[in-house]
Amino acid sequence: MRVGPGTTATAALAAALAGRYVVGRNAASRHRTTGLERTLGHLGAVDSVTIMPVVERLTRDPGLRGEAGVSYLLRADGLTLLFDCGLGMGRGETPFETNARALGVHVEDLDCLVVSHLHLDHVGGARSQLRHTFSLGREQPLPASLPAFVPTDMEHPRADVCVVEEARVLGTGVAVLPPLRRMLFWLGPVAEQALVVNVRNRGLVVLTGCGHPEIEKTLAEAEQIVDAPVYAVIGGLHLPVHAAGTPLMPQAILGSPNWPWRPISEGDARAVIASIRARGPGLVALSAHDSTPWTLAAFDEAFGAAHQALRVGEEITIRAG
Ligand SMILES: [Zn+2]
Ligand SMILES: [Zn+2]
Repeated sequence: MRVGPGTTATAALAAALAGRYVVGRNAASRHRTTGLERTLGHLGAVDSVTIMPVVERLTRDPGLRGEAGVSYLLRADGLTLLFDCGLGMGRGETPFETNARALGVHVEDLDCLVVSHLHLDHVGGARSQLRHTFSLGREQPLPASLPAFVPTDMEHPRADVCVVEEARVLGTGVAVLPPLRRMLFWLGPVAEQALVVNVRNRGLVVLTGCGHPEIEKTLAEAEQIVDAPVYAVIGGLHLPVHAAGTPLMPQAILGSPNWPWRPISEGDARAVIASIRARGPGLVALSAHDSTPWTLAAFDEAFGAAHQALRVGEEITIRAG
């Protein structure tokens, strides 16, 4: 076989990617969040929390727009916040804007915004990701000085951006957890933060974005910081298992934390299910933006009536026990 300059360049690129992956993976496994020693004894609890998906892949009815992104409106007693900004697809109005209008969601009512991580499906599109910012769409400017809690260096022309480094209380019973790191083979390192709500006599409601960090680490972090049992896990867990033939190939390939020849597998999904099941949760609501039909069926089987898929416009309410 003749080895030309093209072959040499490809081999060099493959070696560079493999080297970056190994270094990144080791760094992520060594990484310790600075806020873990800090428990939030003063967090308090809420009597009720409602989560409404404004952006998701699945929708409650055809009048609402689905896309492979995430944006959830969360109301916990007196606090109203938005978790993530969606993918911002289309040339005109974004799905966030269409759905917000249809569902009566007003950004002026927000107390703050939380961005789970700097990926296009959570910050309002590729342009936002490249510019290290976030957007809900052209027609939907954020209120001036809105507090925005982000897991990594980001900026915004109007919002009051705060990079989260340790656990932080956003309101009575509601906190953002310190960002956890994960190395993805193609996309590189990512830092993702989860949100936690302590519901009185019920336990913790944990809200995830893509769910890149291992769920075991996220749940252990929540339990350690708040010292209460996990009651519900809501959001993405990044399990595009058997993605061939589904629209989730980009998530399966680009978002994979594994070597390229090892797809995210049934075994990976079973490990995630085992971690969650060990907590005996009352509710598991999975995001279809990074879950295939196979994964949703596996969660149905594992959790029965306690599992549901998240849908735009379908509210989930958890009340005090
Ligand atoms: Zn995502
Ligand atoms: Zn992501």
